[in-house]
Amino acid sequence: MSEALLPGALPAAGASEMTLGVMGGGQLGRMFVHAAQRMGYFTAVLDPDPLSPAGRVSHHHIQAGYTDAAGLQQLAALSCAITTEFENVPAPALAELARLRPVAPAAAAVAIAQDRADEKAHFVRCGVPCAPHAVIASAQQLAAVPDSLLPGILKTARMGYDGKGQVRVRSQAELAQAWNALQQVPCVLEKMLPLQMECSVIVARNAAGQCVHLPLQRNLHRDGILAVTEVYEGNVPAPLAARAVAAAESIAHGLNYVGVLCVEFFVLEAPASGDADLGRLVVNEMAPRPHNSGHYSEDACDVSQFELQVRTLANLPLVPPRQHSPCIMLNLLGDLWPEGGVPPWEQVLALPGTHLHLYGKQRAAKGRKMGHLNVTGASVAEVRATALQAAQILGIAGF
Ligand code: ATP
Ligand code: MG
Repeated sequence: MSEALLPGALPAAGASEMTLGVMGGGQLGRMFVHAAQRMGYFTAVLDPDPLSPAGRVSHHHIQAGYTDAAGLQQLAALSCAITTEFENVPAPALAELARLRPVAPAAAAVAIAQDRADEKAHFVRCGVPCAPHAVIASAQQLAAVPDSLLPGILKTARMGYDGKGQVRVRSQAELAQAWNALQQVPCVLEKMLPLQMECSVIVARNAAGQCVHLPLQRNLHRDGILAVTEVYEGNVPAPLAARAVAAAESIAHGLNYVGVLCVEFFVLEAPASGDADLGRLVVNEMAPRPHNSGHYSEDACDVSQFELQVRTLANLPLVPPRQHSPCIMLNLLGDLWPEGGVPPWEQVLALPGTHLHLYGKQRAAKGRKMGHLNVTGASVAEVRATALQAAQILGIAGF
């Protein structure tokens, strides 16, 4: 992928449409499609759901399963380059596409992010500390788990998201019970860590190995689901932020990664004595794509995470993004939808600096991500006051 795929070529000059393809039609695909279209690209989405959020706004929508050979052929035939919007795209499907077209991120990098055990091994290889853990894929490994990992969280190695496939366990007996309840699929047991806060960083890396990043996000999770992201000067102590960015970049370089990568971190409670910052930053997991915690960039930065995805995929120049406004993002979950109605948007949008993003989903369910609200303003105090007001109107707990 050395040549840039430039938009805007004219049909009168005999050019064909410059189309970017994406595997998956969820909200991340929808925002990628919006960013690509704004820059003059045509888009193609592969997703089996006829009403998928991205499929509905794309020039082309291939309604096929992710491993459907004819669907993959069609996506490759339409697209000049292909990306993915969710990490559980079967890696062989990406590898198949890569035989036909440039694909970023590569199947090998996505495959590592699909498996918590492989992912942690990669963090260790990069010298980035992660939570003490043990892989449990057999009865022997279960029996060998040291008590020092308890209490802990048992997580399925594959297919988990939004806290799904996770069980908190306090004892060896609960651990055995939980592993049985998870059908004895390969799992990772992580020690439960005392979290002071959580943060994440979005990096974008191109084929030449150049890396840029968005400012560090401070994240609040509720019930295992991201609820609030705050991004402004001082949201996280500067030395921690610098180390998180360095760690994320080394994780990206170690994968020879091309595309947008999000790395999530835990910041542990400070020890009673000693260097308060040393050893407090622990990597949680990575996502080989834009991430919910990066949605603030659409309204608060001059280059959003989705434009970064377009730029890395099309091999356009990468420039460091700049945040031009403090921002707080509130996730809008299905819980907020009243029976037969909609949340009180008119009250929320009457507050200055509120930006509503809805994904066009057909059905609201508890914990389902329906949209997000970005709040920007002239100062942190103003943004916090407005975000808290919006949260109160919507029935989201304060933070
Ligand atoms: P997603 O992919 O949607 O971010 P997930 O299902 O992969 O979520 P994790 O990121 O592993 O889940 O965990 C969800 C949340 O649970 C974390 O953000 C954190 O709040 C809490 N959590 C997870 N692991 C630990 C741990 N080892 N110690 C303390 N809290 C944890
Ligand atoms: Mg997570």
